[in-house]
Amino acid sequence: MALTFGTLLYFQILYLENMVQMRREQFTENVTRAMYGVSGILERQETLYFLERDIIELNGVIYDPLYPTTPDMDNEGEDNSEIDPIMNYYTPTQNIKSRYQQMQDALRNQYRYQRGLLNDVILTIMQESGNRPVMERADSTIIRRSLHQELLNRGLHIPFAFAITTENGKTVYTTSDYDESMSTGVHSITLFPNSDVKYILKVQFPTESKYIFTSVRFIIPTLAFTVVLLVVFLYTIMLAFRQKKLTEMKTDFINNMTHEFKTPISTISLAAQMLNDSSVTKSPAMLSHISSVINEETKRLRLQVERVLVLSMFDNSQISVNLTDLDANKTIENVVNTFKIKVEKFGGSVTCELNARLSTICVDTMHFTNVLFSLLDNAVKYRSEERVPTLTISTEDVNNDTELEIRVSDNGIGIKKDDLKRIFERFYRVSTGNRHDVKGFGIGLAYVKEIVDRFKGSINVESEYDKGTTFIIRLPLCSDTPSS
Ligand code: ADP
Repeated sequence: MALTFGTLLYFQILYLENMVQMRREQFTENVTRAMYGVSGILERQETLYFLERDIIELNGVIYDPLYPTTPDMDNEGEDNSEIDPIMNYYTPTQNIKSRYQQMQDALRNQYRYQRGLLNDVILTIMQESGNRPVMERADSTIIRRSLHQELLNRGLHIPFAFAITTENGKTVYTTSDYDESMSTGVHSITLFPNSDVKYILKVQFPTESKYIFTSVRFIIPTLAFTVVLLVVFLYTIMLAFRQKKLTEMKTDFINNMTHEFKTPISTISLAAQMLNDSSVTKSPAMLSHISSVINEETKRLRLQVERVLVLSMFDNSQISVNLTDLDANKTIENVVNTFKIKVEKFGGSVTCELNARLSTICVDTMHFTNVLFSLLDNAVKYRSEERVPTLTISTEDVNNDTELEIRVSDNGIGIKKDDLKRIFERFYRVSTGNRHDVKGFGIGLAYVKEIVDRFKGSINVESEYDKGTTFIIRLPLCSDTPSS
């Protein structure tokens, strides 16, 4: 599908490109034709000018074909003296043949005269046209008017600017809107190509690109829809991948959960078997050990069940929070006191740095305690094998005493940058380079984030791989009573 979409888009772009190219060529062709039209008009105007001038110079001399004179005849009048054409013409005795001959001669003379006259004009044009001032030969008003008309005849109703230059590029005339710095989009032709002195007519269309775009604009929606289709397609694929990933995470979760449930169940069942076994001596110490094991494992089992319940609550958004004012410093102190034993089991320590002067926050006590335990739990769970776990939990007033910042730091294995962004996602567990012996569901941090969000706070994490991790929670302070 991606290939099809790509090809479709590619061909559409190609088609658009060709279309623009074609329209541009069509436009250029029309403009060139219009300009040749203008050039023709100018040439005709010039011929007309010389013709008119010669006619004026003849100054009313009316030619009579029966007295033929040609302008270039030196022997003007000599031949005429010999015959009297009028007399001959009107001689009644004359036969038809000779009259016909006479008329033919008269016509021939007239033709010769006219041809001589024309040759004369052409000679003048050839000799004098180059000397005429350019503004007379190529009158800007005539160019403007005729170019406008010629363009209109070809269906091009578009504003233009033009310039007239000499053959070696010297500007003779430009319209005010002509941009001489523009090198592309200039259409030019030679004016008076058959004369000695030629000029170049250059025409620009400031709105040429817009005009061409307007003529191919109808193809844009097709292109837009293909892009929309492509985006929707990519989005669907992304959703499918996300769904697949979620399904994999859920399978992992079920596997982990089964394992987590199995261990306490088998321990409890073992303890029960021992109690049942008559060969095992049941000293008070033994009984106390077995009962404590059963007790511990039941607790563990309950915790797991609770976690699964919390998870199911996520889906239904059923986590109910009961917000009350709570002194964070005190609560943290209590939690740390309880947790100390667990860290000390691994030879580690946990330090409190409760620097916050204001520490009353508006939270649900149970969930807030759970959040702290989850973070401390993780700090021990993901401890480094090479060092004893050293945990620090600190509080501070920040943001002009409007927020309480709680930092939970450890010197554990740390989290890689790529994983950092995802650890708050449900079921997400760091898979590689992490402790494989640690079992979990990947829901602890998702729960922490959900709860902090409910408290209108924020949670961030800073971590350096193989150095340690710090979780930073910020919660709004709800009273300015200094903590005791
Ligand atoms: P779980 O611990 O059940 O895997 P969590 O949601 O609590 O799930 O944590 C998600 C992941 O974040 C863990 O798999 C772990 O790799 C990483 N993580 C959490 N806390 C820490 C920590 N303090 N140090 C290093 N890694 C951590």
